[in-house]
Amino acid sequence: SIPLGYFGGIGAASRRGILIKGGAVLDSLRDIRVAALDKTGTLTEGVFEVNAVLPASGIAPNELLATAALAESRSNHPIARSVIRAALAADIVTDDAAITSMQEVPGKGVVVSIADTTLLAGNAALMESHGITPQVVTIPGSVVQVAQNGRLLGAIVVADRLKPQSPEAIEGLRHMGVSTIAMLTGDREEQARPVAQRLKLDILKADLLPEDKAGALEALGPVKHTLFVGDGINDAPVLATAGVGVAMGGLGAEAAIETADVVILDDNPARLPELLRIARRTRTIVW
Ligand code: ADP
Ligand code: MG
Repeated sequence: SIPLGYFGGIGAASRRGILIKGGAVLDSLRDIRVAALDKTGTLTEGVFEVNAVLPASGIAPNELLATAALAESRSNHPIARSVIRAALAADIVTDDAAITSMQEVPGKGVVVSIADTTLLAGNAALMESHGITPQVVTIPGSVVQVAQNGRLLGAIVVADRLKPQSPEAIEGLRHMGVSTIAMLTGDREEQARPVAQRLKLDILKADLLPEDKAGALEALGPVKHTLFVGDGINDAPVLATAGVGVAMGGLGAEAAIETADVVILDDNPARLPELLRIARRTRTIVW
C-alpha cells in the first residue's frame, strides 16, 4: 500500500503542473545533492533569433539564409525553427517538396538530400565530420554552419534569452540544500559560459553530445543523489541515468516524457525548488 502522505505530495504537485511518477520518486527527491540542467529550453527560452548572417565569399546573404531554411525545414529543433522564421520574414523560403531524405544528427544538426544535392546545417562538429572546415565566428551565439555538396556557404548566428525565472530557480535549489549545480549542454562553451556565469553555476560542461550527458552527470557524484532537468529534445539517456530525471515543457519529446520521473508541464524552472519543497514536506506526514 502507498502511504497517504505520498498521495498528498503527488496531488499537491500536480495542482502546480508538476507530475510525479510515484512515491519512490518523492523519496529520491529528498536526497538530491547535485542538480544538472540542460541550457536550451530549460534555463533559456529556447526561442532563438537570428543575429547575424555571415556568407562565405561569393555567396549572397539571402542565398545562405534560404539554403539554411531549406535544410532545416523538416527539423523541430529550436535553432532550426529560428532559421525558418527568419527566412519566412525575409520572404525567401524555398519549397521543400523536393527533399528526398532528411537525417537529424543529435547534438550536431541536419543532413538533407535533394536529388543529387546534399545540404548540411549544424554546428562545427557536423561540418568536421563531413570533412568541411567550419567558418570561424567571433559573434556570441549559437552558430549554424551551412554547406552544399561539400562547400561551405557560410554561417548564421542565432541567440537565445535567459528565462526570467532562472535566477530565482537556481537560488531556490541552493536554498533547498543542493550543493552542486551544473549546466550540461550540447551548445558550444563560448555561448554557454555567460549563462552559467550569470546564474553562478558551479560547473559547466559544454559541447556535449546527447550520449555524453549521462557520463558527465555520473562524474558529478553518486547518481542516486542527482537531479537532471532537460527540455526533452535528445535528453532521454541522461534522464534515465539521473537519480531523478525531470522533463520540462510537457509538450517536449515523447521519449523524454516517458523516461522522466517528473514532468513539469509549464516550462517554469521555478517549479524545481517547489518540487524539492513538496517532497521534503511530504515525509513529515508519511506514517
Ligand atoms: P542543448 O544541450 O543545449 O539542448 P542540443 O543537444 O539540442 O543542445 O544541440 C546541441 C547543438 O547541436 C546545438 O547547440 C547546435 O549547435 C547543434 N544542433 C542540433 N540540432 C541542430 C539543428 N537542427 N540545426 C542546427 N544546429 C543544430
Ligand atoms: Mg536540449
